[in-house]
Amino acid sequence: MFLYADVILPLALGDSLTYAIPSALQQQLRVGCRVLVPLGRSKVYSGIVSRLHNDAPQADITLKDVLEVVDETPLMLPEGLQLWEWMAHYYMCTRGEVMKAALPAGLKLESETGVLRNPDFSELEVLSEREQQLFNLLSDTKAKKLPQLERAMGLRSVHTLLRHLLDHRAAIVEERVDRLFRPRLQTFVRLAENIRTQEDINSALDTLHRAQKQESCLLAYLDASGMGAALTLGDMCLVREVSKRELLNMEGASEAALQALRQRGILETYSVEVGRLRTASTLPEGLRKELSDEQRRALGEIRDSFKHHDCCLLHGVTSSGKTEVYIHLIEETIARGEQVLYLLPEIALTTQIMQRLGRIFGDKLGVYHSKFPDAERVELWRRQISDTPYPIILGARSAIFLPFQRLGLVIVDEEHETSYKQQEPAPRYSARDTAIVLARKCGAKVLLGTATPSIETYHNVEAGRYGLVEMHHRYGDVEMPEVFIEDVRELRRKRLMPTPFSPRLRDAIREALRNKEQVILFQNRRGYSPVLECRTCGWSPRCSRCDVPLTFHQRDNKLVCHYCGATYELPRQCPQCEGTELRDMGYGTEKIEAAVHAVFPEARTARMDLDTTRSRSGYEDILNSFASGDTDILIGTQMVTKGLDFERVRLVGIMNADQLLNKPDFRAHERAYQMMSQVAGRAGRRGKRGVVVLQTQQAELEVVRQVVESNYAQLYREEIQQRKDFCYPPFSRLIHIVLRHHDEHLCHEAAKYFAALIAPHFTADQLLGPDRPAVGRIQSLHLRHLLLKVPTTMPPSGVRRTLLAARSALLAHPSFRRILIHFDVDPV
Ligand code: ADP
Ligand code: ZN
Ligand code: ZN
Repeated sequence: MFLYADVILPLALGDSLTYAIPSALQQQLRVGCRVLVPLGRSKVYSGIVSRLHNDAPQADITLKDVLEVVDETPLMLPEGLQLWEWMAHYYMCTRGEVMKAALPAGLKLESETGVLRNPDFSELEVLSEREQQLFNLLSDTKAKKLPQLERAMGLRSVHTLLRHLLDHRAAIVEERVDRLFRPRLQTFVRLAENIRTQEDINSALDTLHRAQKQESCLLAYLDASGMGAALTLGDMCLVREVSKRELLNMEGASEAALQALRQRGILETYSVEVGRLRTASTLPEGLRKELSDEQRRALGEIRDSFKHHDCCLLHGVTSSGKTEVYIHLIEETIARGEQVLYLLPEIALTTQIMQRLGRIFGDKLGVYHSKFPDAERVELWRRQISDTPYPIILGARSAIFLPFQRLGLVIVDEEHETSYKQQEPAPRYSARDTAIVLARKCGAKVLLGTATPSIETYHNVEAGRYGLVEMHHRYGDVEMPEVFIEDVRELRRKRLMPTPFSPRLRDAIREALRNKEQVILFQNRRGYSPVLECRTCGWSPRCSRCDVPLTFHQRDNKLVCHYCGATYELPRQCPQCEGTELRDMGYGTEKIEAAVHAVFPEARTARMDLDTTRSRSGYEDILNSFASGDTDILIGTQMVTKGLDFERVRLVGIMNADQLLNKPDFRAHERAYQMMSQVAGRAGRRGKRGVVVLQTQQAELEVVRQVVESNYAQLYREEIQQRKDFCYPPFSRLIHIVLRHHDEHLCHEAAKYFAALIAPHFTADQLLGPDRPAVGRIQSLHLRHLLLKVPTTMPPSGVRRTLLAARSALLAHPSFRRILIHFDVDPV
């Protein structure tokens, strides 16, 4: 029996607080359960019990009591709590902040949480009387906050009652609008159940010889779905899902004919929520694919590697069939009764992989990410602590927080992606690195997969810490794309580039269009043009709250700040010289699209960037229309570089490599190599060899040649030497210290003060700054930053202590109390 409980609260305060356990609760209280505790005069919070103990407090302190136990069974498993502790320590935040990031809203009711009644709920009888009272207080249109409900119920806290309402789905938690995910139904077409073989199809076609329209509609379906090839090769995985819209767009198909075919029992339609998991029942059974020799060798080597290493890098060129290797590894793992966590860098990518895994693993697969409705995230969380957890979890960053009972394998796909790092708010964690720690705590293995490893990961391989397995060939012996460099400087000099397309790129696009092949154009900037400039005096409009030029967005005819999102009207005249002519400089995706329309008026285009994908369905619509061939040319930002798998992409154009190459960042070349190689990898994935045209003004750069030759080894050798020479990671650990304040002078003084506090602990080479960063003001706050390069030999806990003490001292100084300061460990 324990007398005291340490409780983690969802606050940036301290690390945990200790409460006394009243004897009535001593029986039920367990580590990992939520409890209600008082804080301050009148506040009640729900927190998680991190430790039970009998360490009596100092004599002069009276502890407050735990008020209530919210959960009968722990929400958090011990490994999860240990992970929180590690994260708080390593990323220098509190466990409360980790908890805020980790738990879905429905599991961490805060006083600001808004609660709604679920209009579809009807089983009132399952609710107790008090619960019904609370239910009756809720509205299904206007969210109520907890304190309001508490007043109305005359209770200090409604957490426990509300928990039951949420569990029964009688109540739902209000979601932030940007989270809101509206499931959309889409109708698909497939062969009716009794038509499975070539003979069935033949006899169906026979019955249609008088009904020509139906016959051609059926043929259109067979064509679109790839059914012919599938039957010939005996591989039903080759059958594509065909949406009704797609079918009706095809020549020969019509609504009436489709109706008739349904009545005859030849075709049937079914609807699915777009973006949700399709289980085996809605998809043709996906048999596992036979592995190629190279894939089989890789699989064997990974197994061997796991005998000696906990972590293995699978370095396979784009389209080498890494996903298929993962699938086999997942199968082996779940067959042993262990769980798999499959991490993707981007929510947007989950749909494609989800369909692929869904065909094979059906309802063994759970999908989890922050854009899912909160109620479902809560449900999945509960399922993972139940007796029947999903064996496989597919998710983005936040899936690392889920409880795992028997984790055996973590797959980190596209491990080099920077979106694994959370930038804002705390915890500023790397999901890849945290997943490795989680795996270690659970005794699980980690497979990092990519065609372009991060320098840090490859260094871990070289140092013998990680195993390495390589795949050098594309699946089906498709050749790597051929990369052509176009020297834009030279072409401009010769006046051969009146449009953003070099002659070679223009010809290649034309040829692809003629052959009905698809094109991806990569331009890593959204909007129309990144800068407007007065022709007379050179003035350009800037954000009044941030220190950056505004981007012109033609579609909305507005100027937009890409740092704070503020929009501005287009100025009629230059405020400096009253000139009326503003010219747009440089290219964004909108302007590239406009140029495509001008040069190739027949091409059907789509644009994929932050502006067109804000809504989830936006992203899916673009991908679906590209996959079904409704789009010829896809123009996009780095979103198009990631893991997309399309059959008919023949040509990739990298519009402006210099944007990537010229970033003032020691990782610029590594990133440029990764992005260019990844986007190049989208070309020619099946069948024909792809073509890439890379436009740059710096054709002579080594890194450009490395992309052409896909020579990662050389990129690595050069980069690692530079890192060593200048003591950058992996030869040091970086900690970025950022201070913010409205008053620039004060901000600068605070940064100097902070620097002076920590300076005695570091050499001048290790502590850089304070400086004004390249963008010195964001959302009206001035910025100053310091960079610490901590040698890997220096014990991190000492560094942490120094920094935390200095922060406390800074904030205790009367002038600097209002300074905002944070640490970013391993910034990317
Ligand atoms: P990567 O993840 O390495 O880029 P993928 O796993 O996406 O590569 O595979 C590339 C393409 O090759 C995909 O279209 C996939 O369906 C196909 N493919 C890979 N392995 C096999 C296999 N063993 N049998 C049939 N098709 C395969
Ligand atoms: Zn002017
Ligand atoms: Zn701004």
